[in-house]
Amino acid sequence: MNDRSQPNTKSARRFRLKFWGVRGSYPTVSADTLGVGGNTSCVEVEVDGRRLIFDAGTGIIPLGKQLCNGASPPPAAYVFLSHTHIDHVLGLCFFEPLLTDKARTFILGPGATPGALTRSLRHLTNSDLFPVSLDELKGKKEIFSLSGGEVIRFGSSGTRPNIEEPRAADGIESDDLKVTTFKSAAHPLNGVMLYRVHYQSKSFVYATDVEQQEGGYPEIIEFARGADLLIHDAQYLQDEYFSYTKPRKGWGHSTIDMATDVAKKAEVQRLVLFHHEPTHDDGTMKRIEKEAQQLFRSTVIAHEGMQIDLI
Ligand SMILES: [Zn+2]
Ligand SMILES: [Zn+2]
Repeated sequence: MNDRSQPNTKSARRFRLKFWGVRGSYPTVSADTLGVGGNTSCVEVEVDGRRLIFDAGTGIIPLGKQLCNGASPPPAAYVFLSHTHIDHVLGLCFFEPLLTDKARTFILGPGATPGALTRSLRHLTNSDLFPVSLDELKGKKEIFSLSGGEVIRFGSSGTRPNIEEPRAADGIESDDLKVTTFKSAAHPLNGVMLYRVHYQSKSFVYATDVEQQEGGYPEIIEFARGADLLIHDAQYLQDEYFSYTKPRKGWGHSTIDMATDVAKKAEVQRLVLFHHEPTHDDGTMKRIEKEAQQLFRSTVIAHEGMQIDLI
């Protein structure tokens, strides 16, 4: 029997996003940032009983606790890493399913060769930094390196994802959950992976840690074309990006203007500004949202706990 014929009835046809961490660079805990939230990048996506997670910043820590709360074993998680900069993996070693017997976690992210992502993640648990090695963590885990252009399909929750090379995926059309990948060089030093998640006739794009060029990168605009939702890096204000004393050009992040420009050109339905500058307090973030809406009407800033239902 096909896995797809027996979806979890409770969550069947659900396509829900929840933001657990929305900051870039480093977490912030000051009182004036609590409204938007201080955890670094992590977005949970629940699709028809399957659970995908985008990035393992500190936001993944409370998410992991919730997954393990009373569930034995906890539901399997498919963790997609945009890249392995510290703000995107800082929560990984504290992700409760990785510390829990019988839990299953699949980790996917950029890596030039099959073992490259595993080698990168092992740095996190170097004995000088963390007392337990990645291999010793109790939860079952499998790590997959991606080079970009893959199509990833899923069976029922807990089964290994099926990673198809671009050619092999040609011509296979299905309404079931799939993730497509695009490797962008628009982030120093090793680039970043962008993801597009498709389910039924809906899709969203996760594009954090990208610094757009003037007018936007055409290939990123194409990758996002027509999406129902675009989550895009918008770390800097124009003033910060072009500052004389401390210009941020080349740091790998976009401005609000760049993000809204790409949303317009890609003709997406909605834009979520993401990877917020940690020094931007709640008042600044409110102003940013208003200004961004002048540039692209269907824009919101991501905040912790925000949920969006695409179905
Ligand atoms: Zn980042
Ligand atoms: Zn980065």
